[in-house]
Amino acid sequence: MLKGKTAVVTGGSTGIGAAICRKLASMGADIAIAALACDENSDNLEKEISETFGVRIKTYACNVADAEQCKATIKQIHGDFGNVTILVNNAGITRDGLMLTMKEADFDAVINTNLKGTFNMTQACYRIFMKQKYGKVINLASVSALLGTAGQANYAASKSGIIALTKVTARELASRGVTCNAIAPGFISTDMTKGLEDQYIGQIPMGRPGKPEDVANLAAFLASPDSDYLTGTVIRIDGGLAIS
Ligand code: NAP
Repeated sequence: MLKGKTAVVTGGSTGIGAAICRKLASMGADIAIAALACDENSDNLEKEISETFGVRIKTYACNVADAEQCKATIKQIHGDFGNVTILVNNAGITRDGLMLTMKEADFDAVINTNLKGTFNMTQACYRIFMKQKYGKVINLASVSALLGTAGQANYAASKSGIIALTKVTARELASRGVTCNAIAPGFISTDMTKGLEDQYIGQIPMGRPGKPEDVANLAAFLASPDSDYLTGTVIRIDGGLAIS
C-alpha cells in the first residue's frame, strides 16, 4: 500500500518510533530515520527491517531541535530516496518536575525538542509536500496535553503546542492534498515510561499499558490513503485514560 513512498520518522530507532518504522515498512514504505545519532539501536533496526521487509532504510544523524540540521537532513533524504511522502514527528523527551522547582534549562530542552523539533521538520518538508501535491504529516502529541498532567508543565505545553501546529499545518496544506493529524498516546510501555507503570496503571480504564505497536497501527492508518479525508484531528490512543 505504501510502495514507492518514503517515510521520515524522527526518533525512529527506539520505542514508538521503531514500531512505526516496522509497521510502515511492512506496508512497503522506504524508511528514513532521523535520530540524534547513528548507533547500535539504529544499526540493528536497519538490519532487521531491510532483511524482513526488503525496503530501503537509512538513518541520518539529526538533532530535530536544530533547524539547519533538519533542512540539511530532509534535503539529503529527498536526494537519496527521490521523495518524502510521510513525515512522522515522533522524537520527544521528558524532563518532569513540579513547576515550583522546574529548571529553565529543562523547560527549554523539552520545548525545543518536542515543539520546535516538530515545527523544524514540518517546515523542512513543506515545499516538497506542496510541489508533490501530496503528503502525510503525523505528529506525536500526548494525553498529557489534554489532561494537564501535574509535573509536566514543559511536556504538556510542548504537546499542546504540537496540537496547535497540527491544526495550522492541516489548514495551510489542505488544498495541496496534504493531511496532518496528531496522535495522543496515553501510557505506552517504552524507555520513556520505564518505572512509572505503578503510578498510572490504576487510572487506565482498560487496566493495562499500551504497546508501541498499538500506536504504530494508528500511525499506519494516518500514513495510508485510507485517511486521505482526515486532517487536523487529534486521536487519543490511551485505553480510556483521558475519556472526558
Ligand atoms: P523513546 O523511546 O524515548 O523515544 C524517543 C526518541 O526520540 C528516541 O529515539 C530519542 O533518541 C529521540 N530523540 C530525543 N531527542 C531527539 C532530538 N533532539 N533529535 C532527534 N531525536 C531525538 O520514547 P517513546 O515513548 O517511544 O516516545 C515517542 C514519542 O511518543 C515522543 O514524542 C513521546 O513524547 C510520545 N509519547 C509517548 C508516550 C509513552 O507513554 N511512551 C505517551 C505519549 C506520547 P535517543 O534515544 O538517542 O535519545
